[in-house]
Amino acid sequence: MTTTYSPHTAVIGGGICGLATAHRLARDGVRVTLLEASEQLGGLGTFFTYGDQAVERFYHCVMPTDDDLLALLDDVGLGDAVHWRKTTMGMIVGSRRHRFNSPLDLMRFTPLRVHERVRFGAVSLLLRHLGAGRDLDMLRTEDWLRRLYGSHIWEEFFAPMFGSKFGPSFGDVPALYLWQRLGRERNVATRGYPEGGYKAIIDALRVAIEDAGATIRTSSPVHRLHSTAEGCSLTLADGTVLEVDDVVSTVPLPQLRRLADADLAQCLPASDLRYQGVVTGVYFLRRRLSGHYWTPILRSGTEFDGVVEMSSLTGTEVHGGAHLVYVMRYTDRSSRLYRDEPDRIATRWTVQLRELFPELRAEDIESVRVFKAPFVEPVYPLGYLSARPPVAVPGTRLLLATTAHVYPDVTSWNSSVKLANHVADGLLGELSRRRAGEPVP
Ligand SMILES: Cc1cc2nc3c(=O)[nH]c(=O)nc-3n(C[C@H](O)[C@H](O)[C@H](O)COP(=O)(O)OP(=O)(O)OC[C@H]3O[C@@H](n4cnc5c(N)ncnc54)[C@H](O)[C@@H]3O)c2cc1C
Repeated sequence: MTTTYSPHTAVIGGGICGLATAHRLARDGVRVTLLEASEQLGGLGTFFTYGDQAVERFYHCVMPTDDDLLALLDDVGLGDAVHWRKTTMGMIVGSRRHRFNSPLDLMRFTPLRVHERVRFGAVSLLLRHLGAGRDLDMLRTEDWLRRLYGSHIWEEFFAPMFGSKFGPSFGDVPALYLWQRLGRERNVATRGYPEGGYKAIIDALRVAIEDAGATIRTSSPVHRLHSTAEGCSLTLADGTVLEVDDVVSTVPLPQLRRLADADLAQCLPASDLRYQGVVTGVYFLRRRLSGHYWTPILRSGTEFDGVVEMSSLTGTEVHGGAHLVYVMRYTDRSSRLYRDEPDRIATRWTVQLRELFPELRAEDIESVRVFKAPFVEPVYPLGYLSARPPVAVPGTRLLLATTAHVYPDVTSWNSSVKLANHVADGLLGELSRRRAGEPVP
């Protein structure tokens, strides 16, 4: 009698990385169960309802260079669903608003001295070229940018920008991060947004995954994970135990550490990677704010340090005529701001937003909501390319596909899809070796 080898893989986490992994594996005939803790799929791309519209809790857009994501959208029938638009950027320094798009804008950018504006423009044009072929993973961003731009530009401009993303150790982040980011955003003016929002992508992936025969279980947090070289077992919060051959975990490493049983914990990478969380205020306004998609805010005394005017990309029709604006602050999950009550944050941030934009009257604000996420941006240390934890956890059948693994790519839906493809390819290769009875490396 011949038995068919029919391995079962569990994917933990229903954010884009888990969805893309499950989609790829199920499409290639693997039996898959995806387990998502919350009642919604989508992870950081999840939404809330406002009237009858689904609105992302955290601003998201697609870049023209997002090839892996765009290929996935094609696969699930959303190839033509992304609407592209030219967007602009502003910059607020102190209480002054600046445009920040063209050489002329730069020449008028008074926070820098005239010769610094010229230097800023010239170095920025050459930056990708200046970094090519260098070991930027071992070079501190601060050292690189101070040398190229000079100390005053670093302190006035880059230090607050990096500080707002990465927190106190921003200068130590490898220069490779910035170099990669410039690559992703080289066509910075053009951005895309999917018709029906990110919910449309999540819904299409769900349908494609289930059509391929996989099981998706939402409201199913994994409580305990055990994995050896023979297989894995997952205990769900309701006590159900699921025995599977392999597990792909997409949850951030600190959260995974809490799920791992004592044996597995010893096999997990000893990483003390720090993560920045985020707090966002989501405003529905009755008027346009600046018209710029992105406006960093430097030294203005606000708790938030950036504004994303989503409607400049999506138009207002998708949000029932309202102008959708996000304000944000990246911060550690233990910070006072992060632990503060959403209502209190909303009250303070509304006062600060109106100070920054005095033309915004109280009656122009239709509604405000505050959302938080604890693990958003890994703060990569110098030399992270070689310190990055491996995808396959030795001595187990656990594979890791987390935002800590996308480096040197920037954290984005595109990077998560690229990683999901890589991890799924590796697993598919291993499954076919097992099927053929070959030794697994
Ligand atoms: C403010 C903000 C703006 C952003 N802007 C953009 C943008 O413009 N463009 C872009 O491409 N990207 C953007 N990103 C980044 C992007 O959202 C992330 O890189 C991406 O969503 C990461 O996906 P993921 O699947 O790896 O992780 P996540 O989305 O975090 O998914 C992990 C999932 O695991 C689940 N989970 C956790 N624990 C368990 C458990 N025990 N059991 C089961 N499930 C569990 C969680 O509920 C979650 O759904 C932005 C992010 C933020 C916060």
